[in-house]
Amino acid sequence: MSDNIEEIIRNYALQNAVFFKGKANPKAVVGKILGEFPDYRSKSAEIIPLINSIVENVNSMGLEAQTKALESSNPALLAKKEKKERTYELPQLDNVNGPVVMRIAPGPSGPLHIGHTRVSILNDEYVKRYGGKLICRFEDTNPEKIDPDAYDMIPEDLEWLGVKITDYYIQSDRFELYYDITKQLIEQGNAYVCTCNADDWRHLKEAKQACPCRDLPVEEQLERYDKFMAGDYNDGEAVVVVKTAIDHPNPAVRDFVALRLVRHPHPRVGTKYIAYPMMNLSVAIDDHLMEMTHVIRGKDHLNNTFRQEYIYDYMGWKKPNFYHYGLVNIPDTMLKTSLIKKSILDGEYSGWDDVRTGTVRAMKRRGIKPEAIRRYWVESGMKAVDIQFSWDNLYGMNRDIIDDGANRYFFVQNPVRYDIDGIESISGKAPLHPDHPERGNREYTIDGAKTVFISADDSKMFSESGKVRLKDLCNIDYGTPAKYSGDDVSILRQGFKAVQWVSRDSVEAKILMPDGTVAEGLAEIRIMDETNDEVQFERVGFVRIEKKDSNGITGIFSHR
Ligand code: GLU
Repeated sequence: MSDNIEEIIRNYALQNAVFFKGKANPKAVVGKILGEFPDYRSKSAEIIPLINSIVENVNSMGLEAQTKALESSNPALLAKKEKKERTYELPQLDNVNGPVVMRIAPGPSGPLHIGHTRVSILNDEYVKRYGGKLICRFEDTNPEKIDPDAYDMIPEDLEWLGVKITDYYIQSDRFELYYDITKQLIEQGNAYVCTCNADDWRHLKEAKQACPCRDLPVEEQLERYDKFMAGDYNDGEAVVVVKTAIDHPNPAVRDFVALRLVRHPHPRVGTKYIAYPMMNLSVAIDDHLMEMTHVIRGKDHLNNTFRQEYIYDYMGWKKPNFYHYGLVNIPDTMLKTSLIKKSILDGEYSGWDDVRTGTVRAMKRRGIKPEAIRRYWVESGMKAVDIQFSWDNLYGMNRDIIDDGANRYFFVQNPVRYDIDGIESISGKAPLHPDHPERGNREYTIDGAKTVFISADDSKMFSESGKVRLKDLCNIDYGTPAKYSGDDVSILRQGFKAVQWVSRDSVEAKILMPDGTVAEGLAEIRIMDETNDEVQFERVGFVRIEKKDSNGITGIFSHR
């Protein structure tokens, strides 16, 4: 094989990587090479392992370095990218006349999770673009679903995300405002106090029929309202309902509950109130009083928007511009606050930042950067079409951010010891970062017993293949002890593998994986001098170092 072919493979691998977010697909590169150089088809046993090893190398570089490398080796291959490259920008909002007022409205049931970050980022992007205010309103009108710590955790999460909140409000401070408007709606004849059985009321609505309470005279409604507020009804015996059109073609929009009775104590206001607003009442009133110009919410709130518009119309209020983005399905992730909380209490999860959860705290702990989350949602946009969340895409965006700063180290899981015979002393060096020679090398000299450790998996492979390359050090032949066998890298072309290794100059390392398991092994000792939190363990992935002490290091796996 000509030396030149390696360069050609590398260039195609770089090109493929640059087009696909930093990850070249070895199969695509194989297809390309065999397509362009049919002579190699008969030598696939030789060429495919070579391609695989070059692709692996290229994939560990990170998108920025790949682009730079291709720019200097074969810029023509980048040209296609220019055509393909899209710059993502959110669409303009309608009716922007000066500063905007927007909001996020989390329920304080726990800290934020990755799903909540979408609405937070979208609103933040627009307020930063147009200027104005971004309000965070705690919607705590269901006392049974509140975690008091969430009032502190949510602002911390927003701050970490880089979402800049102008003002915070708490709905449980504002009950009198909701009562005031409700009373006005009753006086207008646009709301009623209903004492029907809830199922009967619903069935009547489904049949487009008014319940017996709906058309009672206003005076009687007001008397009932006073009784309601005074606590003369039990929970569930009466509700205040806003009238819409009882024959509305969309059954979900027909008459909706505005106030209900709740005697469960509230973590902030205790038993001060028994009349609790339902979201359509409190949200419409607050959005009006806080002078929202634009409201961005998920499509699941579309019917709520229709309901809330009745309140705007009855009160003669100007409506904000409403936007409803499509739903997002986030696969393989624990997002349910109540379940996470239960698992924390049961001692199964370590806390809200347990890596098995999708909380913002878990993202932070895993080394996912807020800039990556932001880019993900900006690129997802605001369209009404439902989307599938891709962890791989988020990881790709994160890799682009952290790759440059993440120095490379070897980690050997479940280490197996080999002593090497046949040489006095072996020295090897590898750059801390292949794109940053100025950062220097990791250099090791192995003498004395000449002991190395490789992972149990690699050890098995070594015993089968009989020969292995200790990456950036030398080749060895299988045996007890193993035997030094030169430093000729061309053994890789013969199909032998290069493996990560550590010498006695190593420390214990534990890596907490996203499934909660712990990969245990040894890391090369130079990692103790590393000042950055993010490192890349070659062939393992990116890891955020969480703890370093005399026992070694503990890291959290980010992604490959
Ligand atoms: N608290 C609601 C939520 O977070 C508010 C949604 C809205 O009104 O847009 O789902």
